[in-house]
Amino acid sequence: MIRIDDVISTVTDNRPQADVDLIRRAYLFSALHHKGQTRASGEPYLIHPLEVAQILAEMRLDEVSVSTGLLHDVVEDTLVDLDTIREQFGDEISMLVDGLTKIAHISDLSKERQQAENVRKMVLAMITDVRVVLIKLADRLHNMRTMQYLKPEKRARISQETLDIYAPIAHRLGMGKMRSELEDLAFQNLHPDEYKRLAKEVDARRPELEAALDNIKGTIESKLRENEVPFVRVEGRVKRLFSLWKKLNKQKIRLEQVYDLIAARIITPNDKKNCYLALSVVHDIWTPVPERFKDWIGIPRDNLYQSLHTSVIAGGGQAFEVQIRTEEMHHIAEEGVAAHWKYKESALGTHDDDESLDELRRTVERLLLPLVETTEANENSEDFLESLKLDLFPKDVYAFTPMGKVMQLPRGATPIDFAYAVHSAVGDTCTGAKINGRIVPLRTEIKNGDVVEILTTQNSHPGSDWLNHVVTSRARSRIRHWISLQQRQESIDLGRKLLEREAERFRVTAKKLLSNEQEMKRIANDYGLSRAEDLLASIGYGKTLPRNVIAKHLGPERFAELDPEKRQETRISSGVKAVRKFIGLGDDAIVVKGVDNLLISRARCCNPLRGEEIIGYISLGKGVVVHNRRCKNVNQLMVNRDRIVEVEWAKTDREEIQSVQILATTENRTGMLAGITNAIAEIKTGIRDARANVSKDDIGLIEVTVEVYDKKHLDKVVGAIRHVPGVIAVERVNT
Ligand code: MN
Repeated sequence: MIRIDDVISTVTDNRPQADVDLIRRAYLFSALHHKGQTRASGEPYLIHPLEVAQILAEMRLDEVSVSTGLLHDVVEDTLVDLDTIREQFGDEISMLVDGLTKIAHISDLSKERQQAENVRKMVLAMITDVRVVLIKLADRLHNMRTMQYLKPEKRARISQETLDIYAPIAHRLGMGKMRSELEDLAFQNLHPDEYKRLAKEVDARRPELEAALDNIKGTIESKLRENEVPFVRVEGRVKRLFSLWKKLNKQKIRLEQVYDLIAARIITPNDKKNCYLALSVVHDIWTPVPERFKDWIGIPRDNLYQSLHTSVIAGGGQAFEVQIRTEEMHHIAEEGVAAHWKYKESALGTHDDDESLDELRRTVERLLLPLVETTEANENSEDFLESLKLDLFPKDVYAFTPMGKVMQLPRGATPIDFAYAVHSAVGDTCTGAKINGRIVPLRTEIKNGDVVEILTTQNSHPGSDWLNHVVTSRARSRIRHWISLQQRQESIDLGRKLLEREAERFRVTAKKLLSNEQEMKRIANDYGLSRAEDLLASIGYGKTLPRNVIAKHLGPERFAELDPEKRQETRISSGVKAVRKFIGLGDDAIVVKGVDNLLISRARCCNPLRGEEIIGYISLGKGVVVHNRRCKNVNQLMVNRDRIVEVEWAKTDREEIQSVQILATTENRTGMLAGITNAIAEIKTGIRDARANVSKDDIGLIEVTVEVYDKKHLDKVVGAIRHVPGVIAVERVNT
């Protein structure tokens, strides 16, 4: 059984300066808390963290990584919480343990297959530090090595996950050895029968293959010597079972047809020139297969792999592959990022050189990025920890449904976005949400790894305020759709009211007209509309005038006869005339007079004054509500463009008086109020109310309510006040 001293001696072999005390403390803490726990094999649980630490030590990672290896399952599997880890081991280790615990949750939660891609992205999104990836891979490797005691179903599930998620990550990070071992173990546990059959088949041929390899190796070695090409060693290998199995399945061929079943590898001293020299020797011995030559030294692979690959045909017609690379290239091919890590650090000796660690982080990001699509990495880093931070998905966030399905959403997404991503019906009836079991407001931002449960109620509907809390276009368009449906219903109701009112003015029984489906449909058709409901909606939106509908109903003669305008002159009570000019229709839109039958009222929020620029909004039950164009509410109303109508002030002989409140900011001196009221009285304007105040910073605040006819009049009043000595500013107050 492995002991902590083995781990420590591996660490100190590679890093004589390492903080051994930290590792010992981590070990004692882990031993204390895992005490009494056993693995499926019946062995003490502690073996697992020790072996993980050993793998990390062999990868030559720092003492922080090795200590985290020892502690990685403590939060997940014992009663210890993260705060305790932070108190005892500091921020760095607690952050790493936290990252690993979160990833462990993903495995538990993602029960659905067919989402490997998303789970892989999610794992990557949760990784905030380079070391988390390496520790996670070490953890997985040890678990895969010791799976034999688990039930077959569990073995299969973990193996599949390894193939889907962890082997590709190891591959991307250039960790060839890690990837191979993970894949072969996964293959063995996932398809035990096929593994056995293939292993048996290869084993049957092994003596023959090994003899061929020995022969090839001997030939290469003697030719290299003969030509004085320097080399470190020549290796021979039989193709790994997993990649062999994949190849047989993919190309539907038999074992004998695999040309690269065996391969030789020449390792040269660290100068790529040696590789090309060795290549020329190999091509001199055997005939190369032209299209199979690959120069991964000249053009390294995305994962920084470098090597020359060539396939040659030996005397007996046997084809095989020869790989040629320097020792350093070989080391990187086997260890990948872990090797970079080591080079960076051993070159420095300490953690001080941010630049080179930053470079490492960028390397890792560049390696992992092809597994995802994302934007450029953050360029600046401030300190050592910062330099190890990864943000592979600045744009995305991954969350689970309670059933374990992974949902990919943009950053900033809320439970409303989540609900619509699940199903539009879920979004439409969403009334609340739980994140990780807790009820949260619908505007809560979802974080990576959250489990989001949507609460729905049958007859509940989206609110327009939801538009402020969504980031996905799907949610936005569904909510908009719902709002427009609702507005249509409101418009139909308003249209019905307006038509009823108009009908009564013409002494037509509204009920009778509205219930006469055939007649309503006939009039609707006249307007190019198919249903009576559409006609009512059109009236409600202000597109069709109720008066014209009545005209069509009565016919020209009866209409003229009953027209109340002929019978009696009426005035527009509000003095506002609605004009059928919809925003966006341009200047040539028709101007229709005599629409005083539309309900018109002044908006209370801005109390528009004759002469000011105004705009109308068709509001349920209130008809057209007229706002000052600069009113702060207008922007919001503009969302429903088809309910906006252009309105203008009707010409009138009668002078209509309106109260407007004015606020003057003044110096704090005596007689200010009198000065202002005198100025107003001088231009023969009524004052309804006036009061003076002093602000905390000693500024006079004088509010006067004046009676004015129109904007011009108001401007005159404002101008007069402004000329009073001591007045600093004058403004109209919206009431
Ligand atoms: Mn573990």
